[in-house]
Amino acid sequence: MKETKEFKTETKKLLDMMINSIYTHKEIYLRELISNASDAIDKRHYMSLTDSNIASDDYKILVEADKDLRTITITDNGVGMTKEELENNLGTIAKSGSKEFMDAVAKENTPDVDIIGQFGVGFYSAFMVAKKVTVLTKSVKDNSSHLFSSEGLDSYSIEDGDMDTYGSVITLYLRDNTEDDNYDEYLDEYNIKNLIKKYSDYVRYPIQTWVTKYDPKDENEKDDDSKEPKTHLELETVNSMLPIWKKNKSEVTDEELNNFYKSKFMDYQDPIAHININVEGALTYNALLFIPKKPFYDMYSDRNERGLQLYTKGVFILEKCKELIPEYLRFVKGLVDSADLPLNISREMLQEDRAIKKIAVNVEKKILGELSRMLKNDREKYLEFFKDYGINLKFGLYEDYGAKKEQLKDLIILDSYNEEKKITFAEYKENMKEGQKVIYYACGHDKDAVSKLPQMDLVKSKGYDVLILSDDVDEFMIQVLKEYDSVEFKSINQGDLDLIDEEESKKIDELKETKKDILENIKNALPGVKDVILSKRLVDAPCCLSAENGLSFEMERVLKSQNHGDVKAERILEINPNHPIFAKIEQTYSENKETGDKYAKLLYAQALIMEGILPDNPQEISKDLCELLLK
Ligand code: ADP
Repeated sequence: MKETKEFKTETKKLLDMMINSIYTHKEIYLRELISNASDAIDKRHYMSLTDSNIASDDYKILVEADKDLRTITITDNGVGMTKEELENNLGTIAKSGSKEFMDAVAKENTPDVDIIGQFGVGFYSAFMVAKKVTVLTKSVKDNSSHLFSSEGLDSYSIEDGDMDTYGSVITLYLRDNTEDDNYDEYLDEYNIKNLIKKYSDYVRYPIQTWVTKYDPKDENEKDDDSKEPKTHLELETVNSMLPIWKKNKSEVTDEELNNFYKSKFMDYQDPIAHININVEGALTYNALLFIPKKPFYDMYSDRNERGLQLYTKGVFILEKCKELIPEYLRFVKGLVDSADLPLNISREMLQEDRAIKKIAVNVEKKILGELSRMLKNDREKYLEFFKDYGINLKFGLYEDYGAKKEQLKDLIILDSYNEEKKITFAEYKENMKEGQKVIYYACGHDKDAVSKLPQMDLVKSKGYDVLILSDDVDEFMIQVLKEYDSVEFKSINQGDLDLIDEEESKKIDELKETKKDILENIKNALPGVKDVILSKRLVDAPCCLSAENGLSFEMERVLKSQNHGDVKAERILEINPNHPIFAKIEQTYSENKETGDKYAKLLYAQALIMEGILPDNPQEISKDLCELLLK
């Protein structure tokens, strides 16, 4: 019985995009269908480990073209699909990749963009080249055979099929040629061969296609060039099958690795780095790791688990084995193939498995080693890398109370006041001025913002460099580090900076005594303030806010934005004793305490605003300011 069903709305949308796609690499449809076929065989093979009835010793994928019918057929002897699976897998968008693709398209509002290749749009990509697709399939699960058919519009049909062996036969009825697209190209045997080689060479099952072979000429025809040579067709296995990660390192070119990466992880750009690990011995495994040029669209999505693909003895086990890679390296793509794991390893066992733990430690070490090499040998590339992934390394350092700080501290680069480009802590230390005892840092969006901070004046005048912390995590990371190579970190707006000479410092200390009353008066006028002091860090500015050692204003802001309650940094109002405003306040207090208090409040408001903090009582401040202006 033939049933016709409507596609789900979003499937329709996706199909519509495929059909109207002007994507230039429509050829990827073959890679997608071969990849599905290979997955299906993997599944059957895996199931056959516990059910010998469905085993086969001749797994393969066949790609055939029929020039007269203008069809391309991809046949596999994998698991096949039950009727229900046909509906669930092909009738709806099962795959998150396709969904993400749709979301991205919706956001960009450009349906025909070149981003198709970034997403595993899978089966539906067939409609980029075909006007009709049929899937004849027989499932190992229930022995049933069905025929799915769709013209990619609103509906599809499923009817009973007639297939003897397990697997699927996908037939594509090519679209009519147009001025822009010559679909006949896809029927060409050389084209098919090239596409298989290009995209699917590593597939572990033979991919066969018919190729033309020339017959040897008969004896009496040997010298006769007038006759066309006779030919016959032969089935040929096109792919080399040996997984690329099993090949000897020296036998694999960068280009091959890049192509492998792009087809396996659905990226359209070459990776920024690859790491090829072959370990033999007590523990034998191969790993192939890649750092994508740009973070994947779903790097931070909750739906996207981190993890490397796991194979054991060349058989695919798990798409995302998170035990193989730490959270902070979640941007790394790749796979591990180990000879020392049982095929039927379960997720629970993975967490405890000692081999996995050892591999993970080594994988992490190799990745960090590669990054450190990149930083040393190719600074520009590292800068590029750090722009996208630096934040991950920073979190890695901060995580677990700095458990990884030794491994990560030299991979961190930060902007600094004196340098054009980001520098490492080691470079900062190397360039420290004589007499400089600490590593100074300031929080702010960029150089410009930091440069305007009143607390910068003295540091600048000394020529000391200042690290600029612009990411939320930066200061937390610095707190975890505490020091670099025995040199402490110091925020330019916390604690004693130790920047003015002793004489000057002494003078201010003495002044503090004589001005005790006025400082006390100011403090009493400002309930939110922990202390009011004469500053040793200001040159031109009248005042600034500093925080007591511990929680800084930046951390206060970050914690607040993360809803960590109402934790506040202790506010200290610092007044420049050399600024005329100090004398003015003093004089005002001696004449009228109430006006003196108002001045104190206005001064404090300025200090808050310079620190990027909105005062609690803006209306009152505005009123006082107007009153003052009218005087
Ligand atoms: P995916 O990326 O999950 O392969 P597709 O849209 O390509 O997305 O396919 C959806 C699902 O259809 C697959 O996950 C698989 O379960 C099933 N499928 C596709 N092709 C085949 C096939 N040749 N044999 C068996 N199942 C298949």
